[in-house]
Amino acid sequence: MKAKRGIALTAAVFVVSPLALGLGIILLIAASDDDKGGGGGDFDLSAAGSLRIGKGYVPAQYAGLIEKAAAECDAGLPASVLAAQLKQESGFNPKAQSYEYVKDPATGETIKRPLAKGIAQFIDGTWASSGIDGNGDGKKDVWDPEDAIPSQGEMMCKLLKTAKKHPGYNGSPIELALAGYNAGWGRVDEYKGVPPASFADGQTYNYVKIIMATVESLTAPNTSGDPGTSGGWGRPVKGPLGTPYHQQGGAWSSGYHTGIDFAVPTGTSIHAVGPGKVVAAGPGGAYGNQVVIKHADGMYSQYAHMSKVRVSTGDSVSGGQVIGLSGETGNAFGPHLHFEIRTGPDYGTDVSPLPYLRKKGVDI
Ligand SMILES: [Zn+2]
Repeated sequence: MKAKRGIALTAAVFVVSPLALGLGIILLIAASDDDKGGGGGDFDLSAAGSLRIGKGYVPAQYAGLIEKAAAECDAGLPASVLAAQLKQESGFNPKAQSYEYVKDPATGETIKRPLAKGIAQFIDGTWASSGIDGNGDGKKDVWDPEDAIPSQGEMMCKLLKTAKKHPGYNGSPIELALAGYNAGWGRVDEYKGVPPASFADGQTYNYVKIIMATVESLTAPNTSGDPGTSGGWGRPVKGPLGTPYHQQGGAWSSGYHTGIDFAVPTGTSIHAVGPGKVVAAGPGGAYGNQVVIKHADGMYSQYAHMSKVRVSTGDSVSGGQVIGLSGETGNAFGPHLHFEIRTGPDYGTDVSPLPYLRKKGVDI
């Protein structure tokens, strides 16, 4: 549990809300586009992606610390998630200091006092319990990224392990861990998932959403991911792999992920993985705008959450042909391509996509 930088002008007398989350976050998210509550949906995660380093992305001097902190977690904590948190918390500024404003009970005056400190924006209480001496110099220093980033990593790792024990909760394990980091795990338990937008003015809900969206931008583009063709077969999109097939989680109606996700921004070209005939093109419920293609071997490929569909039912398509653009329509937690291989045209007939594509000669 960790209060965030934030301007909590409150009459509550010297009570620090664990949820004084950043004003910046609230301003960034003018309005939540989703009132369905919870963190539900299909989220993106470039778990295997390396950090995108450079101006506007991850500063080179912190990349190593972030990658090490992630690698030390044996629960599969992506470095890009830690990086996205640091960007959101402090903009990678190790001197970041946020304040809160509280009313002095004695004088009735509003006073300003320090709240969260350093690159990972720890408040004193959390730092006292969770801060570690990451660089082994004999002192744990909240202002030192060599201590703060490993501490953040360790906290997130513990939360991620806890989250994985709750596959029925609403949200992926990473989303649950982020919500726990923001609001305290007790709140995640209380809501059996990411707290809804109605909780604490959407602070936690939006925090999770922003981090998940930022993760993509801080992940290095996968340069080997050109949608090349191999006998007319290729990748559906150029972009890193995210949530794998059959990952369990309460976000999916089947209880597990029925496809694979590619972490790509809205507007990325989506290619037919192979030649075939379009059997569905348009709104598909939770899948948002989708395309389903029947291939000559009797199998089907499906592409979901698209922002634009550029083919129609009945069209013949060639392998590699652009069939639309990626997006986040339907039940999607941020932009990505959800991709399935199926034995039939409809939901519930999914098989593991990667082995299928590899058998077609696709290098993926
Ligand atoms: Zn998906």
